[in-house]
Amino acid sequence: MAAAAASGPPKIIDSHLHVWASPQQAAEKYPYFPGQEPTLPGHVEFLLECMGQAGVDGALIVQPINHKFDHSYVTRLLSPVMLENLECHFYHTPFGSVKSYSHSSMSFQDGYRAVRFNPYLWPSGQLMTNEVGKAMFAKAGELGAPVGFMCMKGLDLHLSEIEELCTEFPSTVVLLDHLGFCKPPKNQEEEQVFSKLLNLSRFPQVYVKLSALFRVSRCQYPYEDLSDIVTKVVSSYGANRIMWGSDFPYVVPECGYKEAKEAVWQLLQQAQLSSSETEWIMGRTVNQIIFNNPSSSS
Ligand SMILES: [Zn+2]
Repeated sequence: MAAAAASGPPKIIDSHLHVWASPQQAAEKYPYFPGQEPTLPGHVEFLLECMGQAGVDGALIVQPINHKFDHSYVTRLLSPVMLENLECHFYHTPFGSVKSYSHSSMSFQDGYRAVRFNPYLWPSGQLMTNEVGKAMFAKAGELGAPVGFMCMKGLDLHLSEIEELCTEFPSTVVLLDHLGFCKPPKNQEEEQVFSKLLNLSRFPQVYVKLSALFRVSRCQYPYEDLSDIVTKVVSSYGANRIMWGSDFPYVVPECGYKEAKEAVWQLLQQAQLSSSETEWIMGRTVNQIIFNNPSSSS
């Protein structure tokens, strides 16, 4: 199995998506966090259907807010029984390589491989650079677990915290979600923030997710207004520090799952990237830093 996987075509890995229980699963076993009931389907069977149609081989699952700090639904996907079942559905790649983020857990015994810092879950008035934040960031580095930053209200608000953490703990890998939530700049202020995103590439530990295009574009699918910023991000960071992601299931009513992958692909074509650079962004980058898959460096 491993040998076959290593010699196959380059893997397409979605670096950012969520799954949560169906209403029936929630009623029976995996309740939603009160007030966080989802408004759209996100169960894993639906994800697998979408991935199968889109030709996506693997994914990095990000713990959803709908279950808040209850990781049991996502953890279930990491258990051996479930993994085998999933692999039987359509996977050529061992589905066992799928790992997940956790908002809070700093122990990785369940197969969790990365951490997500949500600045809005810090106590009011406190920064991600407080004692707990620094301890978690340092520990993640020791464990080889990347830390994702979700700067939904603007990169600028959290930039100095990210810079401080990167400076103090250079061995912790950082993932910036959704192009740092930088929309194509329309004025000088936005230009400055976008320059700061590019400038963060001076920290070799920082990677960028080219994900959730619908959240950063000002246009409809296929989000062509992102062409210029994608070109600039790739030239600052290099393709081997960029990874595409869909933000399933939120992307489904926006443009569709398969189309999310195709939109990224088209932007990379427009940026005239080589096939090797495209491979990095479509799977190799995330494969290397999260899954540590030896085939990613072959
Ligand atoms: Zn998301």
